[in-house]
Amino acid sequence: MTFLDYAPAPESTSILNLKKSYGLFIGGEFIDGHGGSFATVSPSTETTITQVAMATEADVDAAVRAARKAFSGTWSKMPGSERAKYLFRIARIIQERSRELAVAESLDNGKPIRETRDVDIPLVAAWFFYYAGWADKLEYAGLGPAPRALGVAGQIIPWNFPLLMLAWKIAPALAAGNTVVLKPAETTPLTALLFAEICQQADLPPGVVNIVTGAGATGAALVAHPDVNKIAFTGSTAVGRGIAQGLAGTPTRVTLELGGKGANIVFDDAAIDQAIEGIVSGIFFNQGHVCCAGSRLLVQENIHDDVVARLQKRLSTLRLGDPLDKNTDIGAVNSKAQLQRITELANSGDSEGADRWSAPCELPAKGFWFPPTLFTGVQTSHRIAREEIFGPVLSILTFRTPDEAVAKANNTPYGLSAGIWTEKASRMLAIADKLRAGVIWANTFNKFDPASPFGGYKESGYGREGGKHGLAGYLESSSPKGGLK
Ligand code: NAD
Repeated sequence: MTFLDYAPAPESTSILNLKKSYGLFIGGEFIDGHGGSFATVSPSTETTITQVAMATEADVDAAVRAARKAFSGTWSKMPGSERAKYLFRIARIIQERSRELAVAESLDNGKPIRETRDVDIPLVAAWFFYYAGWADKLEYAGLGPAPRALGVAGQIIPWNFPLLMLAWKIAPALAAGNTVVLKPAETTPLTALLFAEICQQADLPPGVVNIVTGAGATGAALVAHPDVNKIAFTGSTAVGRGIAQGLAGTPTRVTLELGGKGANIVFDDAAIDQAIEGIVSGIFFNQGHVCCAGSRLLVQENIHDDVVARLQKRLSTLRLGDPLDKNTDIGAVNSKAQLQRITELANSGDSEGADRWSAPCELPAKGFWFPPTLFTGVQTSHRIAREEIFGPVLSILTFRTPDEAVAKANNTPYGLSAGIWTEKASRMLAIADKLRAGVIWANTFNKFDPASPFGGYKESGYGREGGKHGLAGYLESSSPKGGLK
C-alpha cells in the first residue's frame, strides 16, 4: 500500500433479495420454461449469482400470445393518459429501488457501482418519465393526427447497458400503445428479471411486458415468430445483418442499433485538460463496452505527444477492481468470450506494428479483466483502427488538416458517433456537418438524454431511439407520407 491509497469502500449486497432461480415472465407471472436453466455469473468473481430459465421456441410462442392478448384485450383500448400512469408508476418504483438495481447491475455486468448508481439507473428512470409524458400526446409527435400502435414488439438487447437498453426499448413501445416480449442478453438477465417484479409491483396489466431469458436461439425464435409486428434489436452488426436479411420482404417492421467505431477528433486549439477527460470517458467508461465509444482518437499531429503523455498520466490514476467498490473506475470485462475478443484484437495491434501502452495496474486473480490500453502509431489499415474492439482500448491516429480529420473519421463502415474538441464554434459546426455519424458531441462525449434521438448510419443500423423520433419506430403513421416532419 502506498501513502494515500484509497481504503476499500464496497457497496453491500445485503439490499438484494434474489431468488435461487428465475422463471420466464409471461402473462404477468413467473413460469417455468421448457428449456432448463443456465447460470448468470459475476464477471468479477466468476461465481454464480442465480439460475435463469432458457426459453424455447414454445416458450417464446407463449410469450407472444400473452402479448397479443394484452394488446387486443386491454392495452390498445386504454387511453394514453391511463397508460402514462403505469409508466410514471414504473419510473417512480425504479427510483425507489435504484440502489438495489445499481448493485444488481454491477454484480451481473461487472461495471463500477459509481456508473450504475450515477448513470445507468438514473437514466433508466428518466427514460420512463420522459415517455410517460408522451403517452397521451402521440398526435403531437409529428406522425399525423391519430397514429396507431403497431401491436406486439419483439425486443432483443445486449449486455453492455442491460437495464438501460431495456428502458430504451420498453418505455417508448408502451407509451405508443404496443405490448412487448423482451429478450435480455444471456450474460446479464438479472435486472430485466427485477424489472419484471417492478411490472408486478406497478400492477401493469398481465402480458403487456413479457421477459424471455435465453441465448441467441431464443432471440432467433422471437425474430422468426409470425405474430410479431416489430423487431427492435440492439447488438452486433453481424447478428443485426442476419435479422434484416431474415425479415426482408415480410411485413415485420425492424429497427437496428448496431456497432460503432467512433472518432474523437482533437484539434490543437482545444482545451486540452478538458479533452483528456472527454477522451477518457469516451473510451474507458463502462470498460469501453459502449457502442458509441470514442475508440479512435484523431489528434492533430502537433499536439500528439503532449496528448499521449497527459493521457498516460491520467490513465495511471484510474483504479481497476471490484465493481461494487465506490472508488472503482474500471470494472470487469463482462465475459470470458469478450475478454478473448479484446485480447485477440489488441494482439493484432502488436503484430501489425502499432505501439501498445497499458496503465500500470494489478489485475485481480479471479474474473475477467483488461487494463486501460493505448495504441500509438496506428495506421488506418490496422484492424484496431477498423474493427470494433468493445473494450478499454484506444487507437490513436493523427491528422494535419480539418479535411484529413474528416476523411479519416468517415473512413469506417460504421456511423454511430463522433466527438469534436475545439474552441472554435464555426469549426465545430463545419466539421459536424461533414461527419457521417448519428450522434456528434462537441467538447464532451458519451452524454445521453431521453429527449435526444440516438442511432446510426451505414453498418451502425437504422431507426432512432430517444426523443419523439423514438416513438416513430412503434407507431403506424396516419399522415399520408408517414415519417416525422
Ligand atoms: P450480440 O449481437 O451477440 O447479442 C445481442 C443480443 O442478440 C443478445 O441478447 C443475444 O442473445 C441476441 N442474439 C444473438 N444471436 C441472435 C440471433 N441469431 N437472433 C436474434 N438474437 C440473437 O451482441 P453483444 O455482443 O451482446 O453486444 C455487443 C454489440 O452490441 C456491440 O457490437 C455493440 O456495439 C452493440 N450495441 C449497440 C448499441 C446501439 O445503440 N447502437 C448499444 C449497445 C450495444
